[in-house]
Amino acid sequence: MKVSVVGGSGRVGKAAAFCLAEEDLVDEMVLLSREKSLDKIKGESLDMNDALAAKDIQVDIVASCDMEDMHGSRVVVMAAGVPRQNGMSRQDLAGTNAKIVAHYARQIAKYAPDSIILVVTNPVDVMTYITLKESGFSSKKVMGLGNHLDSLRLKNLISKHFDIHVSEIHTRVIGEHGNNMVPLMSSTTIGGIPVKRFRKFESFNINQVVEKVKSAGEYVISKKGSTEYGPAFAISNIVNVILKDEKKILTVTSYLNGEIENVHDVCLGVPVKLGLGGVEKIVPIKMSPDEKEAFLEAVKVVKTATHEVITSHHEDEE
Ligand code: NAP
Repeated sequence: MKVSVVGGSGRVGKAAAFCLAEEDLVDEMVLLSREKSLDKIKGESLDMNDALAAKDIQVDIVASCDMEDMHGSRVVVMAAGVPRQNGMSRQDLAGTNAKIVAHYARQIAKYAPDSIILVVTNPVDVMTYITLKESGFSSKKVMGLGNHLDSLRLKNLISKHFDIHVSEIHTRVIGEHGNNMVPLMSSTTIGGIPVKRFRKFESFNINQVVEKVKSAGEYVISKKGSTEYGPAFAISNIVNVILKDEKKILTVTSYLNGEIENVHDVCLGVPVKLGLGGVEKIVPIKMSPDEKEAFLEAVKVVKTATHEVITSHHEDEE
């Protein structure tokens, strides 16, 4: 089992690589960066190996700036790209990151044509679309991390309010990984019981909670400069489910071709069945009227953003 991380020198890339290596599932992990960061990733790989020895885990961690080294990867994590600074929106990164992601998507197609790509670079919904088009991969083999992390954040807030162990909370955020995310409260359960049946639901301020989930990344960035553990563990969750062929339903950014609300030609967070085949099935869901309206607004916003980025990217390339 081989996994590669493009952007392996970055905070999210290296944290994700370590988190995944610690699962004792992959034999080889390739950290890829540009030449200028080669020493850094060499240091990271040695440090990781020392830590793994403490847990009797053997993973061959390779530091490289040669994209050919990703050959044979089952999954390639795309975490290269500039991150947000305090006060920036994810969309502010789109122009710069589109160029980086388009370049690496073509490299992945060339050197790891049988891989599944997990896009992390923001704005992730738009970057997933660009990766899909530039790699030429089937839509089953390209997905993005966004709403899975948002769902974990929502799960934490519900757990706190209801004072119930986080493992009992089943909830899901879909739509955009951004302001137009849609929490699916109509299908949120605690211990299998619909959340609305709990007495404490009366004092659960949904709007306030959703605002907290929306600004969670920005809040962490304002305090410590970047997010790391949250995305890293969320990436590890997704890659694990794929490599173990678990067929779990996670919410990942996927290409829609009419499966939900007849939406076509956009990448957005939706529930999917994940396995060795990648996105094995987009799970059709019934939403409440409010959720449906919010989801269709997310479709509109992300489609427009994607169109704008692609148009200016093509103009730059001409
Ligand atoms: P970081 O620490 O600054 O690392 C940036 C990474 O991107 C480095 O590996 C760097 O590689 C690479 N990179 C930067 N500019 C590049 C360029 N022009 N060409 C090629 N590679 C370049 O950033 P981070 O905090 O890890 O964040 C990485 C990305 O993940 C950002 O876009 C961030 O917004 C996104 N993110 C997404 C989520 C999510 O839920 N989807 C969560 C957190 C972060 P070199 O060493 O070669 O420069």
